[in-house]
Amino acid sequence: MASTSPRNWAGNITFRAARQHRPSSVDELRRIVADAEHVRALGTGHSFNRIADTDGDLVRLDGLPRRIDVDPASSTVTVSAGLRYAQLAEHLHARGHALANLASLPQISVAGACTTATHGSGNGRQNLAAAVAAVRLVGPDGGLTELRRENPQDRLDGAVVALGALGIVTDVTLDVEPTYEVAQWVYTGLSGDRLTENFEEISGAAYSVSVFTDWASDDNQVWLKRRTDREDPGHLGRTWLGARCADRPLHPIPGISPAHCTEQLGVPGPWHERLPHFRPDFTPSSGAELQSELILPRTAAAEAFEALRRLGHRIAPVLQTAEIRTIAADDLWLSPAHRQDSVALHFTWIEQAAAVLPVIEAVEAVLVPLGARPHWGKLTTLAPGTLAGRYERAADFRQLMLDHDPAGKLRNAFVSEVFPDLG
Ligand SMILES: Cc1cc2nc3c(=O)[nH]c(=O)nc-3n(C[C@H](O)[C@H](O)[C@H](O)COP(=O)(O)OP(=O)(O)OC[C@H]3O[C@@H](n4cnc5c(N)ncnc54)[C@H](O)[C@@H]3O)c2cc1C
Repeated sequence: MASTSPRNWAGNITFRAARQHRPSSVDELRRIVADAEHVRALGTGHSFNRIADTDGDLVRLDGLPRRIDVDPASSTVTVSAGLRYAQLAEHLHARGHALANLASLPQISVAGACTTATHGSGNGRQNLAAAVAAVRLVGPDGGLTELRRENPQDRLDGAVVALGALGIVTDVTLDVEPTYEVAQWVYTGLSGDRLTENFEEISGAAYSVSVFTDWASDDNQVWLKRRTDREDPGHLGRTWLGARCADRPLHPIPGISPAHCTEQLGVPGPWHERLPHFRPDFTPSSGAELQSELILPRTAAAEAFEALRRLGHRIAPVLQTAEIRTIAADDLWLSPAHRQDSVALHFTWIEQAAAVLPVIEAVEAVLVPLGARPHWGKLTTLAPGTLAGRYERAADFRQLMLDHDPAGKLRNAFVSEVFPDLG
C-alpha cells in the first residue's frame, strides 16, 4: 500500500506508521500481524488523539470481504469490523432489524467505535459497545480467537472497550431488535437555570435526548428523539420549560446548513435516519474542529452544569458547540459508564489547539473532582498515567492485555502511557 503518512479525520494527527496495509483477506491480515514488530488497526480515523497510532504497521480493514450475517434465532448480526454504521444500519433496516443506539454520526467503523466506548444518548441507552455479543480477533502470533459473551472465561466485558490492545478485530457480533421509527423534535431557548433545575425531566423526555449549549447564553437547544412504538411521537407543546418548539430544521452549530442533519419537525422515520444528528452523505459536525468529552456520574450533572456555566466566559470564545447526553450504566471494564448511569459533556472546539487546550484543562479541573473520565477517542490534558486509576477494573484489563499479548506487539505509545507499568 502507498506509504504517504495518513492523517485522522480532523487532520490534527499525522500517523507515524512505518508501513500501511489494506489486506483483502483475513489470511493476509494474519500474516501481516504475525510478521510485524508492532501493529495497530485504523478504523475510519475519527478519533482526535493518538489512540490508533503506531510506529510499526498500521492496518485498515475496509478491504476485507464485507460480512453482514443476521442470525434471527439469537437476534444478532455478525459484521466485518471495518464496516461503517451507516452501511450496516441501512442493511439491517431493509431486513426489518435495528440497533438500540447510534452515535451522532454514522460514518465511523463498528470496531473503532466500540473500542473507544463511543456512545449516543438516552437515560436507558448504553454505549454502542454494550451491544457486542462476540468479537473475533487476530492475536499477536497471527492466530484467530473468538470471545463470546456466554463464555465467562472469555472475559468479553474486558475485551470490547479494549483500546485496540488485545488484537486486530476482524468480526463483531451485535445484538439487534425489530426495526422501529423515531420522530425528532428540537426546542430552542432553554435557559441555563431551567437546564440545571429540570435536567432529569429533560433527559427523560425521549428515547434519546441531546442538549446543545455554549455554556454562556440562555439559548440552549434540546433535541428529542422519540421512539414511535414506545412514546407519544408528538411534541411536548409549543413551549416546554420556557423553550420553544422549532418550526424549521436546525444544525447544532450556528451558521451551518441543517441540510447536513437528520430530519426534524417530528416527521417519523427509520431509527438510523433519526438517532444520529448527521446524515451519512454530508460532513458531520463542522469538519474543522477539535473535540473533547468528559463522562461523569449522572448524579453530578447539576453541579457540573453550574461549574461549566461559571467557566462559560472562557469556553464560549473557542467553542463551536457543546453537547450534553446521558448514557446508561454497563459492565464493560474500560467503559466510562462502567456501572454508573452517566452524563456526557462534549465540546466541539475551534480548530486552534493552542487556544483550546488551556480551556480543556480548565474544564477538566472543575469536572475531574466530580468523577469525570475522558472519552478514549478525544482530547484530554490529563496525564495519561492517571487515567487507568479512574477504572475499578483497570488491573483486570492490564492482566487481560498480558494474557493476550505478553510482548506488547499490539500496544502503542498511547496504551503504554495509560498503563505505564507494563513496560
Ligand atoms: C464528527 C465526529 C463526531 C463524533 N461523534 C461521537 C459521538 O456521537 N459519540 C461518541 O462517543 N464519539 C463520537 N466521536 C468519536 C468517535 O466515535 C470515536 O473516536 C471512534 O473511536 C471513531 O471510530 P473510528 O472507526 O474512526 O476509529 P479510529 O479512530 O480509527 O480508531 C479508534 C481505536 O479503535 C482501534 N481500532 C479500530 N479498528 C480496529 C480493529 N478492527 N481492531 C482493533 N482495534 C481497532 C484503533 O486502533 C484505535 O485504537 C465523534 C468523532 C467525530 C470526528
